Amino acid sequence: MLPTDADLDSTQMINRNRKVSSPDPPLGHRVRRSAWKLCLGLVLSSVAWAQAPARPFRPLDPLLQDTGAAGLKQMLLRLQTTARLMQTTAHPDDEDGGMLTLESRGKGASVLLLTLNRGEGGQNKVGSNLFDVLGVLRTLELTASDRYYGVEQRFTRVADFGFSKSPEETFEKWKGHDIALADMVRVIRTFRPDVLVSRFSGTSRDGHGHHEAAGILTREAFRAAADANRFPEQIKEGLLPWQAKKLYVGNVCGFMASTCPAENYTLRLNSGATDPVLGMSYIQFAMEGLRHQLSQGARWDRH
Ligand SMILES: [Zn+2]
Repeated sequence: MLPTDADLDSTQMINRNRKVSSPDPPLGHRVRRSAWKLCLGLVLSSVAWAQAPARPFRPLDPLLQDTGAAGLKQMLLRLQTTARLMQTTAHPDDEDGGMLTLESRGKGASVLLLTLNRGEGGQNKVGSNLFDVLGVLRTLELTASDRYYGVEQRFTRVADFGFSKSPEETFEKWKGHDIALADMVRVIRTFRPDVLVSRFSGTSRDGHGHHEAAGILTREAFRAAADANRFPEQIKEGLLPWQAKKLYVGNVCGFMASTCPAENYTLRLNSGATDPVLGMSYIQFAMEGLRHQLSQGARWDRH
């Protein structure tokens, strides 16, 4: 138990009284008094440490789960597989963060997220900046989320021009399929995924012309990346054709649907499983990442 202030005061009083009657206390007393002061100093400094304000958040600091024993465990996990997975989406915040986190942090796969545009045609719930400036902000927000998902990020050259009712309108404004498709093929040929996952189905279920276009382009890119006659300028640059082994298509029950019959799935992943290294489930950790996309209203209380 630590001495109270009153205890310390009475100790000092006793010592002052002693000084009058005995100016040279025995060496043993002086040593014990010095040791006492040292202990007191250590106690006070540890109290001061505990009360010091937390260091301000620095965006480039590694996540806690990427340091120490937890970080080492995930590094060792990654050494056990060469699996590579790539997901395609249309806008920042479309991504399936739970799946990405499960594959990257839970299974050790190398994972890449390709987002067609930077969401510059969307809303901004934290300020008045729109268009290109919003695109920069959403890029930063998405890459902050990516640190939690454990993924690399790529974009293409097509822009978010606002809500689109159909893929036809979207492709008209994107000058056809080939600009976005060439970029998607380039990323596939560069990253060489074993598995390609389209966030969107390429049908009217997707709820936005950009989403639908992303689904359509992903199906095309899955084959085009393996065909040396498609985008031959990339082959001349030194890229090789690449055929991903599997294409999975998501959004089988509609964008943001809360229920979905089991028969609609060919594969189900449990992103709600708890990861002991993360100290929470994959989807919970992904939500910690998604929380950084404040311009899209991603601010909610923790439960
Ligand atoms: Zn979207």
